[in-house]
Amino acid sequence: MGDLRGKTALITGSSRGIGRGIAQRLAADGALVAVHYGSNDAAAKETLENIRAAGGRAFALGVPLGVPGDAEALFAAFDAELAAYGGDSGLDILVNNAAISLPGHIGEVTPEEFDRTIAVNTKAPLFIVQQALHRMRNGGRIINISSAVTTTAFPSTLAYALSKGAMDTLTLTLAKDLGERDITVNTIAPGFVETEMNAALRATPEARAALAGLSAFNRLGHPGDIADVAAFLASDDSRWITGQRIDATGGSML
Ligand code: NAP
Repeated sequence: MGDLRGKTALITGSSRGIGRGIAQRLAADGALVAVHYGSNDAAAKETLENIRAAGGRAFALGVPLGVPGDAEALFAAFDAELAAYGGDSGLDILVNNAAISLPGHIGEVTPEEFDRTIAVNTKAPLFIVQQALHRMRNGGRIINISSAVTTTAFPSTLAYALSKGAMDTLTLTLAKDLGERDITVNTIAPGFVETEMNAALRATPEARAALAGLSAFNRLGHPGDIADVAAFLASDDSRWITGQRIDATGGSML
């Protein structure tokens, strides 16, 4: 287990799903965790309770992304909550995890859905990084959550795939820029993980079995499978890895 004592981590979209798993894991490793979410207060509260019950430290930030001024609003809340919590003003680990996935092939996607997807999944993370860099200490970590859809074609979620492809490019480009500060930037690309995001795709036992069958291990991923990769990338053990896209699909479509 990595030692993140003395570090502060911000995980976007950590009220539920993969983000919650990462928040709980980094808190268990000793980080003070900012649990960001959009609107689900009850889910965020549950994440906080889980962290605190395990002896960890965390506070919540409810700030919608994908709207003008979102990154500034997020960090205004972060600064205020961190000061109230008694933490110092720095940030060590940023995980860009919050995202939406709207269905739509090329013939179905609308300009509005495209703009919304890019606003939440791509534009918000970019400007969150910009704000984060004013606070991030040298040696920090930026972890972007992408998806298998950037290397395996899933035509039914075209806008989502484009938004995640841009995140892979953001990782590569930022890593080159931030090396001089010993900040690493990496992407984790999950396959199908059992969260609310894909509940509709596995509504029947047959559909669920088909998704599980994509993995060499014949099962769906769990948030903890991704959180453990994030914990490695957040730790000092990953200091020589940057600009990389880590496949965390359980060997899907090998
Ligand atoms: P999820 O269960 O749907 O949770 C999404 C999280 O993001 C929630 O905390 C939600 O907050 C937050 N969020 C969504 N839209 C937001 C907005 N506009 N403003 C602020 N917060 C917002 O998703 P997940 O399955 O855990 O996915 C997490 C990441 O993994 C995403 O980047 C996703 O693309 C990626 N991923 C997932 C899978 C998968 O199979 N699940 C596969 C590949 C990649 P609220 O609770 O407040 O709504």
